[in-house]
Amino acid sequence: MLPIESGLEIVMSTAAAKNRPDRMPAEAVALLDSMHRILREDVLSDEDSPRFDKAIRDGFAVRFEDLQQVPTELVVVGESRAGAAADVHVDRGRCCEIMTGAPLPVGANAVVMVEHTERITPGKVRILKTARENEGLLRRGAEARKGERILSSGKRIGLADLGLLAGTGKSKVLVSSKPCVAVIATGDELVDVDDTPQPGQIRNSNTYTICAQVRDAGAEPVVLGIGRDNLEDLRKKIEQGLRHDILIVSGGVSMGKYDLVEKVFAELGVEVLFDKIAMKPGKPTVFGHRGETFVFGLPGNPISTMVSFHVFVRPLILSLLKAADTKPEILDAKLEAPAKCDPERAALVPALVRFDAGQYRIRTAPWKGSSDLAGLARANALIMIPRREGNLEAGDTAQFLLME
Ligand code: AMP
Ligand code: MG
Repeated sequence: MLPIESGLEIVMSTAAAKNRPDRMPAEAVALLDSMHRILREDVLSDEDSPRFDKAIRDGFAVRFEDLQQVPTELVVVGESRAGAAADVHVDRGRCCEIMTGAPLPVGANAVVMVEHTERITPGKVRILKTARENEGLLRRGAEARKGERILSSGKRIGLADLGLLAGTGKSKVLVSSKPCVAVIATGDELVDVDDTPQPGQIRNSNTYTICAQVRDAGAEPVVLGIGRDNLEDLRKKIEQGLRHDILIVSGGVSMGKYDLVEKVFAELGVEVLFDKIAMKPGKPTVFGHRGETFVFGLPGNPISTMVSFHVFVRPLILSLLKAADTKPEILDAKLEAPAKCDPERAALVPALVRFDAGQYRIRTAPWKGSSDLAGLARANALIMIPRREGNLEAGDTAQFLLME
């Protein structure tokens, strides 16, 4: 059995070999639609940011040298508000009323918060606290200089990035076009969500979770329905799926008599690069390719499918999208209770993590195995238990993946 890291290396090197520069070409999308897409251009600041010296407090623009002794009284020579600068010069002994976001008048070098002042008359104010030079203001270009790179190609666009793009005038953004991912669920026991299962049947949940994971990774799912556990039906569906960038088949890859997916992969010329990973859940994970199409057979149990997708499929999608960062985020936590290791397989186990006293603390969540979605729904992380003898002990550091 292949360790997880070796399996992932095979997936990523296969992706790199088939990921020509013109695969998943860049497309221009409206700013709002660029959220969570992979940026395909370096973005430069169109101007200094801020564009002018500006107040970041409501109060009075002063010369800090005037405030050596407080309280002190200053003459108010004007008002500068956001969108309407005051055409005044702040000399010694003078100040200018100013609002957050307003341009700093010439001569001023600090802004005193209104809370630290007392208006005496319309033309006079008493300042109650001293200020340091440049306090209460932001100098032109303090955040970014005109022409400075503020975002790099390959970044997954997040909320701050979206705001930054808006601020620099990008109404259209170049992002990677989305790979199409064909999704086939397999099993004679499966019925659609709207149907009522008869004895021995269950509803198909994997199609939904896989499609959601595909979307979240930045690709476009194409639902090909349920393939039944016979060669003819699987051939038809898998042949169809092989016309997409990626094909994901869930179920039918274990050792059962009716697990026929690998047989059909072989018949249809899919070159399988691995079909067993030393991982729990997710052992019978299959990866291969045919022509330009990447092919996955994921174990059918709902949690196995999710975990296998997260570990192997998501990084491949991100690599096709030319994302700078393809790896899942792994964090450290302090174990609150012992966890049993498996010498055969690394385990990814539903867990409860919380942030307390400056660090993550984690313990495994009660669950009934790789079909227990209810157990997983009560958890908020997957703890990674290394493949070895013995236990992880309370107090040990363990790694985990955060789940939404
Ligand atoms: P398999 O990998 O086909 O042997 O399936 C393993 C387990 O996962 C069985 O209990 C299946 O009934 C269940 N399963 C397979 N596919 C799905 C699916 N699409 N939705 C929910 N459960 C599934
Ligand atoms: Mg099955």
